[in-house]
Amino acid sequence: MARRSDEAYVLRTQALGEADLIVTLLAEHAGRLRGVAASAKRSRRRFGGALDPMTRVRAAWSEREGRELHRIESLEPARSFSSMQSEPATQAACAVLAEIAGALASEEEPDPKGFRLLGAVLDALEGGLDPWVAVRYFEYWTLRLHGLLPDVSSCGACGAELRGAAGIPVEARGFALCAACERAAGGRRGTLSREDLEFLREAAARGPSEMATHREASRPGGALEALLRGAIEAFTERSFRAYRHLERATRAADRDPS
Ligand SMILES: [Zn+2]
Repeated sequence: MARRSDEAYVLRTQALGEADLIVTLLAEHAGRLRGVAASAKRSRRRFGGALDPMTRVRAAWSEREGRELHRIESLEPARSFSSMQSEPATQAACAVLAEIAGALASEEEPDPKGFRLLGAVLDALEGGLDPWVAVRYFEYWTLRLHGLLPDVSSCGACGAELRGAAGIPVEARGFALCAACERAAGGRRGTLSREDLEFLREAAARGPSEMATHREASRPGGALEALLRGAIEAFTERSFRAYRHLERATRAADRDPS
């Protein structure tokens, strides 16, 4: 058994039998990894606050040859993001980030840029960034870091240049289309406006905490959601559940602004 350690974020925990937990981590150099934290369910003391979602930890684990589940030896909390998650919308946004990161990160593939991205978005959320802006920014950069960002300057079907004077149609899988291909595809899921394109330009150049003015473009059901979430869900061939929780939580917060 080889013993290894790395900086990591806790993406999720799942019960394993009576006493143990399976912990999914996004590690800076080891990529996504899953391990068993023995007795962590029965006694949380051994791992302290390190099991809360999105806690940044120093993780040590033993690799088991040919086994998918490693053995978690220790998790030392380095930074907690749990107090901001007493806010349901922030908690739901963290769940979306965890779902995306868990689906796109690869095992044993170092991804220091994806690791830094997650840390920067968590910092911005803690600083009060709107949860949907945080999610859209994370989608944008996750797609870009994986070489999956949809091109909005040319049609995803025929390659024709898109000028977008009257808005650029987007279909459900995150393709931007020309008018002819949109008709052939049988309709659009959204239309990228000037504000949406502005979001994409600014996200390319700015940190997440500087994106606060892009709330409207980031809203659920908007064209950016069709483009960015659509591309992620099409690539991973799944639909992420956590978005629905975030929709509910932000609707409730809008009704009750206290
Ligand atoms: Zn076309």
